[in-house]
Amino acid sequence: MQSITLLGATGSIGVSTLDVIARHPDRYRIHALTAHCRVEELAAQCLQFQPDVAVVGAADAAQRLSRLLRKHGCRTEVMHGPAALCAVASDDNCDTVMAAIVGAAGLAPTMAAAAAGKKILLANKEALVMSGQLLLDEVQKSGAVLLPIDSEHNAIFQCLPQPYRRQCDKPNTLDALDRHGIEKILLTASGGPFLTRDVASLDAVTPEEAVAHPNWVMGRKISVDSATMMNKGLEVIEAHWLFGAPIDRIDVVIHPQSVIHSMVSYIDGSVLAQLGNPDMRTPIAHALAWPQRIASGVAALDLTRLANLAFHRPDLDRFPCLKLAYDAIRSGGSAPAILNAANEIAVQAFLDRRIGFRQIDGLIDQVMQSADAVAAGSIAALMEVDQRTRQLAESLIPS
Ligand code: NAD
Ligand code: MG
Repeated sequence: MQSITLLGATGSIGVSTLDVIARHPDRYRIHALTAHCRVEELAAQCLQFQPDVAVVGAADAAQRLSRLLRKHGCRTEVMHGPAALCAVASDDNCDTVMAAIVGAAGLAPTMAAAAAGKKILLANKEALVMSGQLLLDEVQKSGAVLLPIDSEHNAIFQCLPQPYRRQCDKPNTLDALDRHGIEKILLTASGGPFLTRDVASLDAVTPEEAVAHPNWVMGRKISVDSATMMNKGLEVIEAHWLFGAPIDRIDVVIHPQSVIHSMVSYIDGSVLAQLGNPDMRTPIAHALAWPQRIASGVAALDLTRLANLAFHRPDLDRFPCLKLAYDAIRSGGSAPAILNAANEIAVQAFLDRRIGFRQIDGLIDQVMQSADAVAAGSIAALMEVDQRTRQLAESLIPS
């Protein structure tokens, strides 16, 4: 029986994770469920899964949740605040942590899970983008296991050779690709909802249009990231750290159908790909059960119904965020954390209709130009960079 802490239970990944877990009550139990403020949804999840602990963001939400649970005789203990997230992520009563909080808020509990030697299922790519080597060091020190949930990285993980797989549970060195005869990592990208839209008209797109992804149903932040392709930029950085791959060995390939979730190209000319319907329950089930396989509820891919699989190079003029992400990882140090914080503020400002779609990349660029990247020496230093960058980005938004 695996005991699971699910960080971000009410989100898109959280709900998909519970869907898979509910199919296998003999294999998984829930230690803790967490949510920021959607108390009613979290209460319903607690009644169904009876976790030991539930965590919400603030004291008033905790009171509301306690009342709801008591009314139904549910004995789940209720906690609140960032320290409680770290506590449930490192508790002795859990062995697996699904890190599915969105954004920098997920960094501290993910680090806590790493320090406690947990099996970490990493959806929260922002945590790895910010912390890079620091998270990998913590994983190595404690003997934790880090498995990718992001569909592309999960696909790459599945296409890597077995010894590499074992190694990439623990961080590897930069020549890992060469040792395994790997030429390149091919990260596929759908291109999002604005792949073919006239660039001049992008100024006028609304948040509703931007979050309407053609292939995936996801949270609002990652949906906007997909529309700007910042998501793919963050994923290039994520792949760099997860697989020990130099940036020039990671190619982004636009593949609008989202059937091939990513590929690994070998020096003998072989290209291995992982295919499937675009449904996050597949990578979630894969990582939950790894190295075994379990049913996920996802329908088998019907190859005979695939009319066409297309591939082409991304256009950096249309998607300047992708270039900004490459610049950030090349600068190193705290630059990826600055990129991430600026992006979180810009995306929220766009969703709040305070800036237009094309101002997202403009604002991030401006922040990257004015903020000084420093060495990424500690998580505390990165959190300070995160806070300072948020203030700077806010100050640059026209009122
Ligand atoms: P979402 O917005 O649907 O859910 C986010 C979850 O995080 C919610 O449960 C929310 O309560 C919680 N949360 C938000 N702010 C918080 C805070 N300050 N403190 C504590 N909890 C907080 O997001 P999502 O789409 O499920 O994405 C979650 C993560 O997974 C993101 O990092 C995203 O990039 C990654 N991811 C998502 C998908 C997908 O298909 N949705 C795919 C790949 C990767
Ligand atoms: Mg992805």
